[in-house]
Amino acid sequence: MTYLTRFAPSPTGPLHLGHAFSALTAFDRARARDGQFLLRIEDIDQSRARPEWEAQILDDLRWLGLDWPKPVLRQSDRLARYRAALDQLTEMGLTYPCRCNRADIERAASAPQEGAPKFGPDGRIYPGTCRGHPMSEMTEQDAIRLDMAKATEELPSLTFHDTGPINPGIHPITRAHLIHAVGDIVLARRGMGTSYHLSVVVDDADQGITEVTRGADLFDATYIHVLLQNLLGLPKPTSHHHRLIRDEAGHRLAKRDHARALSKYRADGYSPTDIRLLVGL
Ligand code: GLU
Repeated sequence: MTYLTRFAPSPTGPLHLGHAFSALTAFDRARARDGQFLLRIEDIDQSRARPEWEAQILDDLRWLGLDWPKPVLRQSDRLARYRAALDQLTEMGLTYPCRCNRADIERAASAPQEGAPKFGPDGRIYPGTCRGHPMSEMTEQDAIRLDMAKATEELPSLTFHDTGPINPGIHPITRAHLIHAVGDIVLARRGMGTSYHLSVVVDDADQGITEVTRGADLFDATYIHVLLQNLLGLPKPTSHHHRLIRDEAGHRLAKRDHARALSKYRADGYSPTDIRLLVGL
């Protein structure tokens, strides 16, 4: 099987050194395995995605020496595909509409059981206020959640294999972890029709990705993705979660750190080789 991996930036800001490291890691791993590197633009959040950022991202990646097959897959073109996956989960009876806003969730979750985790890979663990609402009562104002207890009722023994340096090896996924440490994740955000988790799983499958390369900050999301792959009958790629690039204070870089934007280094006369050295490649 040909090795296929991807870099999947969201065009909501400039690429920084952490993105450069991620893209170069994926590209180098594909090249070393006679495989293919793909680019995907994750722009489902149309309130934040900007064509200018996308153009800048493509330009920065080309400057770094990367290339990829065209046309590039853009998530905003694929909403019907995500809808179909969501319908599949709804037909299985695993979804419900949720009317809660952030404040409702904070209030309802303010007195959790002692020792129970408050946050999971999808943010605040949902207290279950709307669980059980029928999909037939869904309105435009609602998000759609996965009923995690139902979704894991017949959970087969699930694992994933990570080839990265931080958590290498086989990771078992238990029902208790999914219910208590992940909870009822959002499958479709209000007014968006999908979510990061749903789109990424569908796209990785449709693009034939054999290994997901991304930062260690998304390691915990893999538990959700493997569950969704299982429910939707999609293939399960290996994952390669790599280290994060941090600033001098040890914080991981964020899009707002424009000082570390690749374009800034380019303007200051750095070469692609200098960037590789800066991120330790
Ligand atoms: N779009 C995500 C980001 O920019 C990456 C998601 C992934 O690689 O799965 O952080």
